[in-house]
Amino acid sequence: MLPMEVLERAQLEMISYRDSGMSVMEIEVGSPEFKEILADTEEALRKLMNIPANYRILFLQGGASTQFSAIPMNLLSSHKCADYVLSGQFSKRAYDEAKKYGDIVIAASSGGASPAFSTVPITKRSDFRPDADYVHICMNNTVYGTKYHYIPDTGNIPLVVNMSSCICSEPIDVTKFGLIYASAQKNMGIAGLTVVIVRNDLIGEARSDTPVMMDYKLLLEHNSLYNTPPIYNIYITKLVLEWMLSVGGLEEMKRRNERKASLLYDYLDGQSYYTAPVDKKCRSMTNVVFITGDGELDKKFAAEAAEQGMINLAGHPSIGGLRASMYNAMPYEGVEKLVAFMKNFAKNNPRL
Ligand code: PMP
Repeated sequence: MLPMEVLERAQLEMISYRDSGMSVMEIEVGSPEFKEILADTEEALRKLMNIPANYRILFLQGGASTQFSAIPMNLLSSHKCADYVLSGQFSKRAYDEAKKYGDIVIAASSGGASPAFSTVPITKRSDFRPDADYVHICMNNTVYGTKYHYIPDTGNIPLVVNMSSCICSEPIDVTKFGLIYASAQKNMGIAGLTVVIVRNDLIGEARSDTPVMMDYKLLLEHNSLYNTPPIYNIYITKLVLEWMLSVGGLEEMKRRNERKASLLYDYLDGQSYYTAPVDKKCRSMTNVVFITGDGELDKKFAAEAAEQGMINLAGHPSIGGLRASMYNAMPYEGVEKLVAFMKNFAKNNPRL
C-alpha cells in the first residue's frame, strides 16, 4: 500500500509537476526538476534513517535481486570469500548467486527448523570465517514471516543486509552495517527502484568484469545517473519518505507497526483455530504468517477475504497458508477489519 496522502499528492501533480507544464513521467533526466527530486529523495532518506556522511546512497533499477549479483561482484575484494546466513527464500537466492563469484559458505541456516525457516539463526562472531570479505543476512523474511530482532556480531567483517521488506519500518543503526539494500516496493515506494546504502571504504574494489550497471564506484561517480534512472519511481519514493518524516519519522513507523502487529499476534495467540507457525522470538512485524491447518480452508479464507476487499492474503505460493503483509501505509483499521473477518470465518467454518 501507499499512503493515501502520497497518492493524492501524485494525483495533484500528475499532469503538471509544480509549474513545469509537464508530468514527472515526462520530465527529462537532466532537468532542474529531476535534479531537485533526486537530491530531495537522498536528503529525506538520510534524515529519516540517520545515514552518516561516510555512507553513499545509490538509486538503482533491477530490484533487490540484481544486488544478489552486484554485492559479490563489488565486495569480494580481499579474500574472495563471504559467509551467508540462510533464513528464507531470498537469502538462499542471494547465496546461490554469490556462489558464482567466489568461495561462499553457509555460516548458519534455519532451513532445518520445523517448519523450515520458521526461525532465524542466532549467530556468534566465531560462526564466521575471520577472512570473509563480508557476511550476508536477510533481515525480514517476507515469505516465512520471520525477522531478525538482533544484529549479528561479525566483528570487523562488514555486515551486508537485505532490508527489502523491513526498511523504514523502525529506526536502525546504519553504522552496524557495511551495506544495506532494499527494493522500494514494500515500504518506500513502488516496484522498479532499488536503494543501496554503502559505506565508503567498501567502494572501488569491484572485480574487473563487473558490468558497468553494477559497479558501485562508477554508478556513484555518476550520482546514480550513469543511465536514465526510474524517474517516476524516485519521485514516488521522495513523496513516501517525506510523508514518513511529516508524521514522525521511523519512531512513529515503529509505534504504528508494533501496534498493528500486536493486534494480530495477540488474537492469534488467544485462540486455537489458526496457528502462527513462526518462532515467537523471530516474528515479523510486517509479514504475519498463519494457517488454518487445512489447505482447502486456507484457500477459502483468501477467496472470501478478497470478496470483502482484503486482497493478497494467500501465503507465498512456495509455502501456501496465509500471510498478512502490513507495511507502513496499512492503517490500524485494516488490521482490525482482518481480525474481525478471521473471527467470523472461524465461527462459520468449523473444522471437523
Ligand atoms: N528480498 C526480499 C526480502 C524480498 O521480499 C523481495 C521481494 N519480495 C526480494 C528480495 C526481491 O526483490 P525484487 O523483486 O525487487 O528483486
